[in-house]
Amino acid sequence: MSYEFDLVTLGAGSGGVAASRRAASYGARVAICESVRIGGTCVLRGCVPKKLLVYGAHFSEEFQDAAGFGWTVPQPGFDWPTLIARKNHELDRLNQIYERMLRDSGATLMMGAARILDPHTVDVAGQVLTTANILVATGGWPILPPVKGIEHVITSNEALDLLSLPKRMVIVGGGYIAVEFAGIFNALGVRVTVVVRGDNVLRGFDADIRAHLGHEMRKKGIHLRCETAVRSIEREPDGSLSVYTGHEELLEADVVMYATGRAPNTKGMGLPEAGVRLDPSGAVVVDDASRTTVPGIFAVGDCTDRLNLTPVAIAEGRAVAEMLFNQGTAVIDHAGIPTAVFSQPPVGTVGLSEAAARKLSGEVDVYVSSFRPMKYTLSGRDERTLVKMVVDPRTDRVLGCHMVGQDAPEIVQGLAIALKCGATKAQFDATIGIHPSAAEEFVTLRVKRPPPMAETKS
Ligand code: NDP
Repeated sequence: MSYEFDLVTLGAGSGGVAASRRAASYGARVAICESVRIGGTCVLRGCVPKKLLVYGAHFSEEFQDAAGFGWTVPQPGFDWPTLIARKNHELDRLNQIYERMLRDSGATLMMGAARILDPHTVDVAGQVLTTANILVATGGWPILPPVKGIEHVITSNEALDLLSLPKRMVIVGGGYIAVEFAGIFNALGVRVTVVVRGDNVLRGFDADIRAHLGHEMRKKGIHLRCETAVRSIEREPDGSLSVYTGHEELLEADVVMYATGRAPNTKGMGLPEAGVRLDPSGAVVVDDASRTTVPGIFAVGDCTDRLNLTPVAIAEGRAVAEMLFNQGTAVIDHAGIPTAVFSQPPVGTVGLSEAAARKLSGEVDVYVSSFRPMKYTLSGRDERTLVKMVVDPRTDRVLGCHMVGQDAPEIVQGLAIALKCGATKAQFDATIGIHPSAAEEFVTLRVKRPPPMAETKS
């Protein structure tokens, strides 16, 4: 059979664009379909705009800290519409760069909703394309639980474009998005209450990291309500919102934002009809080479609900292109992937939490250091940094590095390379630190934390 294209990609987000460009670089005939705008969640509604707002919000602390270094700082003013307009201007610029890079790669961009008609045919807004392979890279979308009054809430999508800054905000959820947006709005002067159904924020992260971040968030003025459920939300005559919790507490807010997870975006594109299996959450079922249940149809990124991180989607997409057009492997190593939460202060983490390491290896050595960053000695800011290392005592291999504090994401990215190379604690110790820095703590950890009681031999 001869087809018009070698690859048709559904979705021009991080994974889809990376795969299409890599495929086109090998001379493949590629079409990439997008129904909204090039860039996907990361560029348009996620990582990029969020991080710009994190930068913008953090200036409030920078102005305060400057006074401790002798600066006279007049009462700073802040204009939310200016930040949003400048953020949107930057997104437009990135959108154009993405579009230009795609065109320069030789891929054909098709704007319109795509639907798979059969494993070799895709309809894009009425135009029918034939193709040897199909890549589904359609991402995810926020989900809202069925709570009374849920129609009054917004998600992170809308929070990035609020017309004005609210005075009071309730954020529901305790994951990445909830803590990141809580940090942004709190730093900008909004009274933020975070409602978490679990015992603390960031379930699944190392327990010390969760405890430290929760404590620092509270110190910054964020009101954390843990082990709390929202019962209902009501719009009041004055336009404000009343959030009733399971503890019979009333939280008053101008904006309620839900960050209770995201669902794969896989509806209405002909996937089950073409024989592609979806799991009960709607995620495309794939093997470790991103192959779906239909030969010739692949899926990468958030629509497969593996590790929903931009660099993972990019790696998965490129690997599919390598396999199809360069005799490479489509299998990427999903172990030891570092991640960061751009909370205030931020979190960086790679490898196993202490609990996961104990489950896997039984006994582990744990090193923890908590300190006041040098900058805050003069500024007087009451913020502490936590670094933690988990080591396998039998092999001396470092199993996990975790940090809460300024620059944690920048520091942990480098440590991830060491862990990928199988670095031992002795090798960390033999590395000379950069002084004075927070990063040097990771190579000067000396004192093992005593094991928990159950592990202590009498
Ligand atoms: P997460 O899955 O990280 O967190 C969802 C939160 O909502 C959890 O605290 C969860 O509780 C809670 N929750 C789920 N359902 C309900 C419910 N019905 N009622 C109350 N609470 C509920 O989702 P996010 O939306 O924060 O982020 C989605 C994904 O996007 C992340 O997992 C991550 O992969 C990615 N992301 C990555 C970022 C980064 O790399 N910095 C930034 C933002 C997003 P529980 O823990 O009890 O299930």
